[in-house]
Amino acid sequence: MQLPADSLARRRLGPAPNQLFIDGQWVDSRSGKQLDCVNPSTGEVIARIAAGNVQDVGLAVAAARRAFEGPWRQMLPHDRQAIMLRFADLVDRHYDALATLDAMDMGAPLARLQGGSRQRALGGVRFYAGLATAIGGQTIANSVSRAMASYTLREPVGVVGAIIPWNAPLGSALCKIAPVLATGCTMVLKPAEQASLSSLALAELLAEAGVPPGVVNIVTGLGDTVGAALAHHPGVDKIAFTGSGPVGQSIVRASAGNLKRVTLELGGKSPNIVFADADLDAAVPGAAMAIFGNSGQVCAAGSRLFVERKIYREFVLRVVAYANQLKVGDSLDADTVLGPLVSREQMERVLGYIDIGRQEGARALSGGQRLVEGKLASGYFVPPTVFGDVDDGMRIAREEIFGPVVCAIPFDTIDEVEQRANATPYGLGSGVWTRDIHKVQRLTRSLRAGSVWVNCYSVVEASVPYGGYRMSGYGREGGLQSLDAYLETKAVWVNAG
Ligand code: ADP
Ligand code: MG
Repeated sequence: MQLPADSLARRRLGPAPNQLFIDGQWVDSRSGKQLDCVNPSTGEVIARIAAGNVQDVGLAVAAARRAFEGPWRQMLPHDRQAIMLRFADLVDRHYDALATLDAMDMGAPLARLQGGSRQRALGGVRFYAGLATAIGGQTIANSVSRAMASYTLREPVGVVGAIIPWNAPLGSALCKIAPVLATGCTMVLKPAEQASLSSLALAELLAEAGVPPGVVNIVTGLGDTVGAALAHHPGVDKIAFTGSGPVGQSIVRASAGNLKRVTLELGGKSPNIVFADADLDAAVPGAAMAIFGNSGQVCAAGSRLFVERKIYREFVLRVVAYANQLKVGDSLDADTVLGPLVSREQMERVLGYIDIGRQEGARALSGGQRLVEGKLASGYFVPPTVFGDVDDGMRIAREEIFGPVVCAIPFDTIDEVEQRANATPYGLGSGVWTRDIHKVQRLTRSLRAGSVWVNCYSVVEASVPYGGYRMSGYGREGGLQSLDAYLETKAVWVNAG
């Protein structure tokens, strides 16, 4: 992997090569092919990664299986916990370098990565490290006989295929690795082809922390090759997927062969509801960053902004003013609040939706076209775009755009907004801004989404479950129950009679 000298200096990690990490070794892909990594702030190729193929996946799954059947399985939870805590410390020590890799690879602003993201990433690994020694079953009263004891054991599900997206590369990798290590599973991690560098850098840190060879294998490459091979592989016991809905559905189909366990964290079209009685000084930046944070490349982004009609005009103008002062720029610039979109393809997709919105009769009140001044011309920059006069039936109000585009929609009553907010096949995030406890009580129950944020938005941490209703997927990441997806339950009957 070749990176500009200054970023190498900042990395202080071993030069992870354009290779795959299998069984604790860096190996070439059997494909002999590589993919370019492009810095979306500049359009420059900053590194190359191996384009893994089906054979590579086979080798990685075999290594993960050997590790699972080997000493890792016998290791005491206490020892796995110690390894995880060392790993967290190493990620902490190298965090700046890892964040720089993500900033260059996918365009997240460094400032964003240094804020809550840092605490979340480290806190997540430590949360699961804590759980490693807290996993246990149940003792159950049975009526068969007094001499019969029944209880459950929790056992690791086996080899996990983890397929992650590009929008939060480091955080996504860690939140797949941590439960695997905590439960004693092993894994093949497939990062997104647009943003694999920080995952590869983690390989060195995992080894240094004492994670045995084969426990975490990393195979880079294209989704329809590496990802699909994992989803089909009979030696993979579970797929943990975060990504788009259609790919999630293809994974469910592929999983049928060996009835893999599957958890899916998919997209959304999340409603963010602002009532006239809300603290508007908080709701304006809250509503803006709910969609514009990470340039809208967030699964739970508040992309449908419902505003009570009596404040609609004023509120939307304030969101526009707030959006217009957000500094858009190179992800490495310290004052950048919004970076580029991850790729030219993603930028074109988002610009395509902006055109569709105009054709459908919505009005772009801010943004609305690619930024091409000066240095920005070579990157993939789209400014925050607020669409007013949006009708619920428009495509921009129904389909996930995954960019800095928000649909502002007026409403009159709570009955009406409750129904319209839920009128989507998705159910990932939702937001409510109000000072009225009755509205809070009602909507926290009636909104059909995996998260409801009240007077805040997009707050996430590992101790709190995160995931979707309906087409936003199933299974939860974070929270105690998330471990269930990595564990089998065995019932034991002991007849002492
Ligand atoms: P996006 O289109 O936003 O990149 P995807 O769902 O395509 O979202 O990508 C999320 C992850 O899924 C990436 O790691 C990608 O390589 C992978 N992926 C893409 N297509 C497939 C597929 N057919 N099977 C398995 N994984 C895939
Ligand atoms: Mg895709």
